Amino acid sequence: LRNEEFMVYYQPKVTLKNYRLNGAEALCRWKHNGEMVLPYRFIPVLEQSNMICELDFYMLEHVCRDLKRWRDEGRELVKISVNLSRVHLGDMDLVEHVLEIVDRYGIPHSYIELELTETTTDVDFRELKQIVIAFRMQGFSVAVDDFGVGYSSLNLIREMPWKVLKIDKSFLPEGNEEQDEDEQKRVMLKHIIGMAQNLGLECIAEGVETAEQVTILKENNCYHAQGYLFDKPLPVAEFEIRLDGLKNV
Ligand code: C2E
Ligand code: MG
Ligand code: MG
Repeated sequence: LRNEEFMVYYQPKVTLKNYRLNGAEALCRWKHNGEMVLPYRFIPVLEQSNMICELDFYMLEHVCRDLKRWRDEGRELVKISVNLSRVHLGDMDLVEHVLEIVDRYGIPHSYIELELTETTTDVDFRELKQIVIAFRMQGFSVAVDDFGVGYSSLNLIREMPWKVLKIDKSFLPEGNEEQDEDEQKRVMLKHIIGMAQNLGLECIAEGVETAEQVTILKENNCYHAQGYLFDKPLPVAEFEIRLDGLKNV
């Protein structure tokens, strides 16, 4: 972290109405000894201690720095989401710390989204709820990440004022599985989207890889997506080309 070896990659989020860029997720990459190390290799290690919190704040700070620079350069801005580990749940000062960073760069809160995953215990549930409420009161968007895997309970959706529900890629039919399994996914996807939207949540599908999946999402009224079909997580310079594209449409 001290050597700034961690880098922010930006994965575009698009609207399926016109395939325009309308947001991005900041994902961490570690450039170490000339090699690009992916999160699955270092996040679990950092999560064994509070080090992951430092990494998350580092990522948020770099995102805010980029947003400020883009604004100063006259670029169009889109909402950027940052992942916050579950390890933050014990941190009473989390919301204040996020505010301190975002406000130091003068970034309007509506341009920042915090992605949080579901929790496993009652205590965590109560803490998560307080955090989601506090972020929303400050005008940040808050997304429940990887919804549908792990321990996602319906209470999690009912009791917290999420803005966005990110449907995990495991609910997207793959087209090459046993027919039954794909059919099951279609049914669940349809009802997750319907439920979320009727509750006033925005839905986004992550891990979209095929045109067939786009068709299914549109049929079910889900018009936000992120995935390799559109773009992989991009280094900042490449993402800036996508941002500049917004002006030419
Ligand atoms: P996530 O937040 O659910 O991020 C989405 C992951 O799916 C990313 O993996 C992304 O590269 C990958 N992905 C995107 N589109 C597709 C697709 O079409 N197909 C497939 N198979 N995968 C796709 P990545 O970048 O390796 O990150 C993995 C996880 O590591 C993230 O899952 C997130 O939980 C965690 N992570 C990454 N950066 C950070 C960070 O700064 N802080 C924290 N706390 N966690 C992070
Ligand atoms: Mg995420
Ligand atoms: Mg996810």
